[in-house]
Amino acid sequence: MRLKGQCSYLLTSLVCVVLFQWEVTQRTLNGSQFYTYSVCNVGEREQDNWLRTTFIQRHQSASRVFVELQFIVRDCNSFGGSSLTCKETFNLFTSESDADVGTTFRKGQFKKVATIAPDEITGKNELRINTETRVVENLSRKGFYLAFQDIGACVALLSTRVYYKTCPATVKSLVLFPETVAGGENQGLREVSGACVDNAVSEESPRIYCTVDGDWAVMVGQCQCKPGYEEVKEACQECRPGFFKAAASGDKCEPCPANSEQLDSGALVCPCTDGFYRAPTDPPTGPCSGLPSAPRDLVATTVQLSTGKLLLSWSPPEDTAGRTDVTYSVECQRCEDSVCQLCGEKIRFEPAGTGLTDTKVSVSSLDAHLNYTFTVKAHSGVSMFEAEPRSSRPPSSISLTVSLRYTGETSASLSLSWDVFPRPRSQSQPIQYKLTYRKKVPKKSIVKMNASLITVKLVVQRCFSDILTLRFGFSLVSRGQDDNLVATTIIVRILEKNFVHVVDLTPCTAYIWIFIFLFRKRNSHSRQGPEDTYFSSSEQLKPLKTYVDPHTYEDPNVAVLKFATEIHPSHITKQKVIGAGEFGEVYRGNLKMPGRKEVAVAIKTLKPGYTEKQRQDFLSEASIMGQFSHQNIIRLEGVVTKFKHAMIVTEYMENGALDRYLKDHDGEFPSFQLVGMMYGIAAGMKYLSDMSYVHRDLAARNILVNNNLECKVSDFGLSRVLEDDPEGTYTTSGGKIPIRWTAPEAIAYRKFTSASDVWSFGIVMWEVMAFGERPYWDMSNHEVMKAINEAFRLPAPMDCPSAVYQLMLQCWLQDRSKRPRFGDIVNLLDKLLRSPDSLKTIADFDPRVSIRLPSTSGSDGSPFRSVSEWLESIKMSQYSENFTCAGVVTMDHVLQMKNEDIKNIGVRLPGHLKRIAYSILGLKDQTSTLSVFAV
Ligand code: AMP
Repeated sequence: MRLKGQCSYLLTSLVCVVLFQWEVTQRTLNGSQFYTYSVCNVGEREQDNWLRTTFIQRHQSASRVFVELQFIVRDCNSFGGSSLTCKETFNLFTSESDADVGTTFRKGQFKKVATIAPDEITGKNELRINTETRVVENLSRKGFYLAFQDIGACVALLSTRVYYKTCPATVKSLVLFPETVAGGENQGLREVSGACVDNAVSEESPRIYCTVDGDWAVMVGQCQCKPGYEEVKEACQECRPGFFKAAASGDKCEPCPANSEQLDSGALVCPCTDGFYRAPTDPPTGPCSGLPSAPRDLVATTVQLSTGKLLLSWSPPEDTAGRTDVTYSVECQRCEDSVCQLCGEKIRFEPAGTGLTDTKVSVSSLDAHLNYTFTVKAHSGVSMFEAEPRSSRPPSSISLTVSLRYTGETSASLSLSWDVFPRPRSQSQPIQYKLTYRKKVPKKSIVKMNASLITVKLVVQRCFSDILTLRFGFSLVSRGQDDNLVATTIIVRILEKNFVHVVDLTPCTAYIWIFIFLFRKRNSHSRQGPEDTYFSSSEQLKPLKTYVDPHTYEDPNVAVLKFATEIHPSHITKQKVIGAGEFGEVYRGNLKMPGRKEVAVAIKTLKPGYTEKQRQDFLSEASIMGQFSHQNIIRLEGVVTKFKHAMIVTEYMENGALDRYLKDHDGEFPSFQLVGMMYGIAAGMKYLSDMSYVHRDLAARNILVNNNLECKVSDFGLSRVLEDDPEGTYTTSGGKIPIRWTAPEAIAYRKFTSASDVWSFGIVMWEVMAFGERPYWDMSNHEVMKAINEAFRLPAPMDCPSAVYQLMLQCWLQDRSKRPRFGDIVNLLDKLLRSPDSLKTIADFDPRVSIRLPSTSGSDGSPFRSVSEWLESIKMSQYSENFTCAGVVTMDHVLQMKNEDIKNIGVRLPGHLKRIAYSILGLKDQTSTLSVFAV
C-alpha cells in the first residue's frame, strides 16, 4: 500500500471484520456486481454504528497515510418522515497499535480523523458515487486500524484504499537515488543520499530532498564518469578505442593526442609511442613530443687568437619536435695527449654555457695553445628522457693554414704531405696535427666548410679498402663519431712526422680531407694522484670522471682553485637571507660577471671569526661541487677565496629545499609528478655514483627545487661527518649520522657506499610520496634503529603507487648487494613515467600507522584534549579556525564528522581532506596499534 503521486497501491484485501449494524450487501453498480458495507438506520434515533478494518501493517518510514474512500450516501429527503433523524455524513476514525488485537474493539481507543460528507447525494433512482481522501498523520506504531462511524445516515462503502507516497527510484546527474517514502507534514523535506552509478565518482556525496508529495527537489552535488569513462544516457561507458579521458569529469572522451598510442577501450591516458615523451610539466593529456634533432651548421665564426675569443653559432635543429622550449648547452673539452677533459670553469661563455635560447655563444679565456672541442646540445622539456641530447660539434677551434700536397696513391693507400710548421721557440713539446675528413655528398663536389677553420681540403675518391694508409709514420690514437653529423673527426698525433694512417673507412666513398694545424702545449697543471683515473682508456672522448677528494691535495686552497672559478666580490650582490648553513648565512643574490648576463644565485657565506680549518672545510664544498656537471646536481658558479669574506656561489633554486617545499604543497601534486621529481634525484645520484662519489647525507632537506620543479642534489660538505646537518646524531662508532636516512651497515660500522646512498634514496622516495612527512614520525632514533634491525620498514605513504613502494622496499634491503643500483633505479622510474598506467595500482595504506595516531590518543598516550591538539598532531593546525567556526569544538564533534562535513568547513585540498578523514578513521578505531609496519 504505497503510492507515489498518481499511482496507487490498492488495499484490496482490506476487510472490515468488526461490524455493528453495518452489513455486507451485494449491489449492482453500472452493470457490475460487488459487495459494499452499508448501514441505513435512518428512522431510528441515536445511531452509533461502527465498522472497523483488519489490522493494517505500517511501512516503518510511512508516518503519513492517505485513505481514499468510495461511498454512496442516500438523500435524507428521499425517506420522507424519517428524514428528521436522518444524517448525510459519517465519521472516519483511526487507532494505532503494535499488534493485531483481533476482534477486540474499544471505541475509546479510536481518534477521529474526519467527518466524511458526500459531494453528491443519491436520490431515489440514481446512484452517485463519491470519492474522498483523508490524511492520517503522525503514525508511529507498527500498524493501525481504520474505523467508520455511522450516526444515522444511509451509507454504502464501496472501497477503501490506504496508501502512502514515495519519491520513486531515479537517476539524476549520474546519481542513483533509491525509492524513498515521503515524510509527514511536520517532517517537511526528507534528505536522501545518492550513490554514483557504476563507474562514476563524486567529490562530495550527492543528496536530494523528497517532498511530502513524493516529488524530488533541490539536488546537491553530482557524480561524474571516472577516468576512462564518459556519460551516455545517464550511465558511464568506457571510452572507445583510440579515445581517452584522464580525469573524472563531465567531459567526453577525447581522441588520443599526437604521437601517442591508441589503447583499447577505457583508456585513461594514451602513453607516448616509442621515441616520444611528455615533459614532467606537460599535461598527461597533451601531445607527446620527440627529441629535438641536433643543432645544425655549428661553426666558430670568429677566431681571435690574441684574446683567446671565439664565437660559436649554429642553426636551430631542423626538427624541434613541436616544442617551443628548446634551449642549448655548450660543452667544452680540452684534449691533450689524446686525453680529453671538460674545460672547467676557466672558460667563459657569454651569455651562458647552458640554457641558451639564442643560437650563438661567445667563448673567451681560451688558451691559444690548446686544442678544444665544443659540443652544442639541443635540449627541450623532454630531454630528460634521452640518454644524450642530440649534439653538434664543430671542428676544433684554433687553426692555421698548412699547404697540403697530394703525393701519390695505390689501390689501398693515399699519400699526402705538408710542410711542418716551425715550432714556436717557447714550445718544448712537439706540434700536433689534426686530420679531419668528411664523407662527401654528393660525390666529387667539394663541401664548402667554414674557411676560417678549415684551411686545406682535398677530395679523394678511390676504391680503396677500408684501411686507408696515409703513411706518415704514426698511428691513430682516438676517434669520435657522431651519427647525427655526417662529419667524423679523427684526431691523430703525428709527432712532427708527416704520415697518417687511417682505418675503418668506407671503401669507394669520396672523402674530403681537411688539415687543421694545432699547437700543443704541455699542461702546466698536469694531473697527479688520484685524478689520473679521470678517463677510461677505451672511451677516450667520453671521459668517465672520478671524483677527487680534495683531501688528497696537500693544500686545500689549490684544490678550490683547480675546481672552482674565482669570482670578484664586486660582481656579487646579496639580497636576502634565505637559509642558515653550518658556516654562515645563505643569501639569495645576483651574479653579474663582466660581459655576461646577470643571473640569480645563492651565496653561502663564512661567518666572521672562523679558523683556517673552518675556512678550508667551508670551501671544500666548492671543491667537490665544482667537479660535477649534471642537470640534477647543484651547479657551482664560483667562489670568493681571495678576499676576507669567503663565499660559495651556486645557481639559485627558487623553491628551496624539497622537504619544506613538499610540506608547503601537501597533496598538490599527482603521483606522476612526484615520480618525475624522484627520477631527477635518481639521475643526479647515478651521476655521482658513476663518479664514485658517495653522498652520505641524501635526504629531501638536501635536495633543492627550482622554478621548473627540477630537483637537484646539494650539500657536499667535505667532512661528511654531517656537522651541518641538524639530523646528524653522534653514534658509538664516532661521527654524526642522520639515523633515519642511513643504511644499517653505515650506522653500524660506517660502511658508506653508493648502496648506502641507495637506502637513503629510498627514504627520500618515501619523503616525496608523503609530501615531506618526517620518516618514522616521532619515533626516537633508538626506536628507529631497533625497528629496522627487527626487519620493520616504513609503510607505504597514502596514495603511493605500488610499484614505487616496491622500489622503496628494494632500496631498504638489509643485504646491500641486493639493493638496486642508481642506474637500475633511473631505468625503473623512467619506465614508470613512460607508462603512467603502472602508477595506478596503489599500495596498501594503513591510516593508523601512516598518520601515526595512536588511536584516540595524543603522543603521550592520553586522549586528545582538544581539537587543536589533535589537528596539531596531524600537522593540520592551519584549519583550527575552520573547525571552531563550524562549531566543531570537541573531539566528540570531530568523531561525528563525515567527509562532506570536512569539505564544507573549508578543507579543499584533496591531500588535506584525506589526511583529516583518515585520521578520524584512525581515531574511531580504538584497537589500532602502532607497530604494524613489518614487511
Ligand atoms: P645548506 O647549508 O646547503 O644546507 O643551505 C641552507 C639552506 O639555504 C637550504 O636549506 C636552503 O633553504 C637554502 N639554500 C641553499 N642553497 C640554495 C640554493 N642554491 N638555492 C636556494 N636556496 C638555497
